[in-house]
Amino acid sequence: MDANTLVRDGLEVLIVVAIGGILWSSVKKLRRGEISAYTCAACGRPTSRAYPRCKHCDAVQPHGRA
Ligand SMILES: [Zn+2]
Repeated sequence: MDANTLVRDGLEVLIVVAIGGILWSSVKKLRRGEISAYTCAACGRPTSRAYPRCKHCDAVQPHGRA
């Protein structure tokens, strides 16, 4: 195992740790309900607060960020 291999392995570990951290913080946010499912006011299906319109029926949501 030479130095280049060590560097590459180190980078792979860093990337895995970074991705794991992102996933973990998403899970924690989900558990706190910060990105919990929002139910469409018109069709009742789960949509996202991130979008002003329902992705299913295109209805404008009351929470909307217009
Ligand atoms: Zn809808």
